[in-house]
Amino acid sequence: MAFIELNVLNNTAEPILGIDLGTTNSLAALWRDGRPEILKPEGHPGRIPSALYFPKDGGEPAVGQVVRERALVDPEGTIFSIKRFMGCGLADVKDELESVQFPASETAEGLLQFDVRGRKLTPQEISARILMRVQDVACKALGGHKLKRAVITVPAYFDDTQRQATHDAARIAGIDVARIINEPTAASLAYGLDQRKEGKIAVYDLGGGTFDISILSIDSGVFRVLSTSGDTHLGGDDLDRTLVALALEELIPKVGQETAQDPGFLQGLRLAAERCKHELSLNPEADFHFSIPDQDLRWHRRVKRAEFEKLIGPLVARTLDACRRVLSDAKLQASDIDEVVLVGGSTRVPAVRKAVEEFFGRAPHNELDPDQVVALGAAVQGHILSGGTRDILLMDVTSLSLGLETMGGAVSKIVVRNSPIPCQVTEGFTTYADNQTGIDFNIVQGERELAADCRSLGRFKLTGIPPMPAGMAKVSVRFQLDANGVLNVTAREESTGAIAEIEVQPMHGLQDDQVESMLQASYDNAQDDFDHRRAADLKVEIGTMIRASESNMEIASQALDPESLADLKDAIQKGHDVATLKDVNEVQAVRDELEQATLPLAAILMDSVAKKAVAGKHLSEI
Ligand code: ADP
Ligand code: MG
Repeated sequence: MAFIELNVLNNTAEPILGIDLGTTNSLAALWRDGRPEILKPEGHPGRIPSALYFPKDGGEPAVGQVVRERALVDPEGTIFSIKRFMGCGLADVKDELESVQFPASETAEGLLQFDVRGRKLTPQEISARILMRVQDVACKALGGHKLKRAVITVPAYFDDTQRQATHDAARIAGIDVARIINEPTAASLAYGLDQRKEGKIAVYDLGGGTFDISILSIDSGVFRVLSTSGDTHLGGDDLDRTLVALALEELIPKVGQETAQDPGFLQGLRLAAERCKHELSLNPEADFHFSIPDQDLRWHRRVKRAEFEKLIGPLVARTLDACRRVLSDAKLQASDIDEVVLVGGSTRVPAVRKAVEEFFGRAPHNELDPDQVVALGAAVQGHILSGGTRDILLMDVTSLSLGLETMGGAVSKIVVRNSPIPCQVTEGFTTYADNQTGIDFNIVQGERELAADCRSLGRFKLTGIPPMPAGMAKVSVRFQLDANGVLNVTAREESTGAIAEIEVQPMHGLQDDQVESMLQASYDNAQDDFDHRRAADLKVEIGTMIRASESNMEIASQALDPESLADLKDAIQKGHDVATLKDVNEVQAVRDELEQATLPLAAILMDSVAKKAVAGKHLSEI
């Protein structure tokens, strides 16, 4: 007897929520109409602070936004950042306990618990209240429909006990956990990076109180955590603190030391600092306002973004130290990373983004809201687990690749076909000739290997490159495709900052059947295209070799034996004539002959240059 396995799509399965249970904020998302969506009821941001307020009289605790206000008047009754204690015993968190004003003890089972105004609660029970509130907000957004199943995210470094504690919190909240997944994995899912065949992803997550950096590998849709690092005491709160310190310098002489240490006063000042910080993410200058009407205190100061960036410089540098560690743990270099993902509200700070971009040498993904991306990814996972498919057609994707014509007429594809949009990709280019001060860019669309066979969308020129040897200029070209399908291409020369850009509409004037026939043509011509492209690339290589040889001709004439010199001249001449050759094998033969003929010259040059530094390289690379 044989069994046949049927893959039944169970459409009646209950949808599964995605929940980001954060240290600072928590929120839920759900897959709807072909994409994940944050669940927000009318007039509510969807996000709720992961904090509880316990009233003095022992009444029911409040959760969410109100807690931040209560903290102003009764700071002793609030509890924040409970996630730090998940799955920990009393002994594990001795130092950490200083940040909580409630006495801690252990339950009979050895679980940590806090004595909060007369009731004893474990971090699991406190997290359960936050989860219930998240579920409530989701229910409201869904018009009263309550969902019981959820995918919940945890930091990649959470151990089994911490994951179990998260499970327990959900159980107490009456939520059925479909799966616990890692936050960086969720963020990568939100960006559709599971669609990559393979690659390495760095997820940089700077939240409210913690910093996590993770390196993931993706292999046929499966994510693996290669290494994690971070700092459990570094986040947006620390950025706020730099502004609080700035304010206190001026405020202490006004209000006195004692007031300046009052928890309510400090909490108010922290919130004001945070508001100022948020504004600085948008504007180059912001107002830092702080007032306590009862005490007739009104204080205000302009803060420049540059000033703020200087204050937070050391903190940003610490995150980069962790990035260095995580790479070395994974035995990788920054240049091995294929995708960088920004997570956490604090990555909205422009200086943070810039630092990450410079560190990894590529523009990070930031098309999605960094404080929503984990919940969105959890919802993607929930959708898959509830039997949904991640049909690529449901997502907005580019139907044809977008790229640039490179030297020799080949195409360098930048945004490949089927990339989810919006998206942004940056690639590095350089100059081909010595002292080249400009580069012409031809933006092309299509799957063919040669620019001549693709559709040209527009041309532009980057000028102002300082004269330098070929290959030395660093030009980064960014393709940014927005949700409306508008493509913005920016080219930037790194040393001078010279910039040129163009905006085009790739799908303008293209009918579906034209897209079809462009795809068909690329299949039909695959082998020929491959050969043409290879020939084009070889011709470029030959050009480079010829230039390298010709610029050393004087040395060659003096130092080479007559036979080698004749061979070299002959090979160079053939190289010059290569333009007319069509057959890739013939071009290959010319290239190989040229390489052979340059070997004696290369050997001589190697002797005259530092031997070690150039050993094993071709002439054109020296
Ligand atoms: P967590 O993962 O720790 O729960 P979040 O990802 O929600 O935290 O990030 C919260 C932090 O993000 C807070 O410190 C908040 O001030 C900061 N933040 C949110 N929006 C901005 C912004 N526009 N500019 C700077 N910081 C921001
Ligand atoms: Mg987070």
